Amino acid sequence: MKKLALHWKIIIGMVLGIIWALVSSSMGWSAFTINWIDPFGTIFINLLKLIAVPLVLFSIISGVANIGDPSSLGRMGGKTLGIYLLTTIMAISLGLLLVNLVKPGKLMDEQSRIDNRISYEIWADAEGYKIKDGINYLQKPEFFKRAQEISELSKSQLQEAAVAEKMETVKKRKETTPLQPLVDIVPSNFFYSLSNNGLMLQIIFFAIFFGVCLLFIPTDKSQPVLNIVDGINEVFLKMVDIVMQAAPFFVFALLAGVVSKMAGDDIGKVVEIFKGLSWYSLTVLAGLLLMIFVVYPTILKLFVKKIPYTGFFKSMSPAQTLAFSTSSSAATLPVTMECVEQNLGVNKKISSFVLPIGATVNMDGTSLYQAVAVIFLAQMHMIDLTLGQQITVVLTATLASIGSAAVPSAGLVMLIIVLSSVGLNPAWIAIIFPVDRILDMFRTVVNVTGDATVCSIIADGEDMLDYQEHENPTQTFDLD
Ligand code: ASP
Repeated sequence: MKKLALHWKIIIGMVLGIIWALVSSSMGWSAFTINWIDPFGTIFINLLKLIAVPLVLFSIISGVANIGDPSSLGRMGGKTLGIYLLTTIMAISLGLLLVNLVKPGKLMDEQSRIDNRISYEIWADAEGYKIKDGINYLQKPEFFKRAQEISELSKSQLQEAAVAEKMETVKKRKETTPLQPLVDIVPSNFFYSLSNNGLMLQIIFFAIFFGVCLLFIPTDKSQPVLNIVDGINEVFLKMVDIVMQAAPFFVFALLAGVVSKMAGDDIGKVVEIFKGLSWYSLTVLAGLLLMIFVVYPTILKLFVKKIPYTGFFKSMSPAQTLAFSTSSSAATLPVTMECVEQNLGVNKKISSFVLPIGATVNMDGTSLYQAVAVIFLAQMHMIDLTLGQQITVVLTATLASIGSAAVPSAGLVMLIIVLSSVGLNPAWIAIIFPVDRILDMFRTVVNVTGDATVCSIIADGEDMLDYQEHENPTQTFDLD
C-alpha cells in the first residue's frame, strides 16, 4: 500500500466514495452519509482553502522579492497574461467547433423545439428584446393556441424564480462602470481581502506590490523580512504535505457526500441524471478531454520539449485527481504548486507568481463549457446565432471565465452573463443544472492542467525549468 502512488490512492477513495453513496442511497441511509461522512469532505476543502490564501500571499511575495530584477517581472507578467488569454480563446474555439458539428440541441424532437421556440419568443417579447433571426412563431395563426398555453405554463415556472435571485446579483455587478474590474483588484483594506476567499486578485495585487517594494529597500532591511516570509512559506507547504497524507480518506467522504446529495434515498435519481447526460454533456466532455489529452500536450511538445507526455501526467496527477474531486481550482492550488515545483521542476520564482494568477483568471475548461452550453441552449430553442453573436459569445465567455471564482458551480452562475449578452434567457441555466456538478469536476481538471501547462512554458522561456524523469513523481507528498 505504501508503494501505491498517491493519485491511485485518491482514485480508489473516489470510487469507494461513489460506491458507498450508491449503496447508502439504495438502503435508505443517505441521511447518515450526509450527517456523518460528508462533513469530512467539507473539512478537507476547508483545510485546503485555509492553506491556499496565505500560501498565495507568502509565495508571491517571496517569488517576486527573489526575482532580483523588477523589469523581468513585468516581462513575465505580460507573457503570463498573454498566454493565458490565448489558451482560453483556443478552448472556446474548440467548444464552438464541437457544438456546431455535433449540434446536440437539434437532436431533440421537433415538437419540443417548437414549444421551446415559442416560449423564447414570449420571453423576448416581455423583455423587449428584438430577435435577430427571421422566424416568428408568435405571428403564425396556427401556433396561436399553443402560444397561449405555453405562456400560462411559463408563468408557473418555479425554476425561473430560483435563479432570479442569482441573476439580480450578477445584474447589479454589470451596472457598474467598465473600469470596475480594475477597481476591484485594488483593495482598500487588505484584511478584508484576506478574510474573503473570493478576493484572490486583491491578495495577488497586494503580494506583488509588497514583493516589489522589498526589492527597492536596502538589503539589511529587506533580508530579515524575506527570511520570515520564506520560513512561513515552508510551514504552509508542510501543511499541504500533511493534509495530502489523508487525501484518499477525505476524497472518499467528499464523493460519498456529493453523490448522496444528488441521489437522496432514491437511487433512480442518479440514473436519471446519467440519462440527462445526453449529447450536450458528451459534447462538453469531448471538448474537455481533448483539451487535457491532446491540446495541452501538443502545446507542451511545441514549446517545452523536455517534458514527455506521460511524465507530465504522472507529475500532475495528484493535482488533477484533487481538482476532480473538489471541483475547485482554488482549493487545489496548494497541491498544484507542489506538483509543478517538485515534479515538473519549475522554479518557485515562476510558479509562485504564475499559478495563483492562473487559478484565479485562467479557466479554459469553464470557458469551453460556457461556449458549448450557450450554443446548445440556443439550438434547443431553435435559435440560430449569427456570426456576430457567436463572436460575442467568445468575448463574454472569456470575460466570464476570468470573472468566475475558482469554486464549485461558479461557471454555471457566470453563464448568466454569457446568455444575456446574446439576448437569451438566463433562466435556462436551470435546464443544464442537473448535470452541472459532474461537468464541473471535469472542467476544473482542465482549469488546473491549463495553469500547469502555461506555467511550464513560462518557466522554460525564462530558463527556470529543471525537469527530471522521476521513478514515481507522485510520492512528492511522502512525509519521510
Ligand atoms: N469549479 C471551477 C473551478 O474551480 C469553476 C467552474 O467552472 O465552475 O475551476
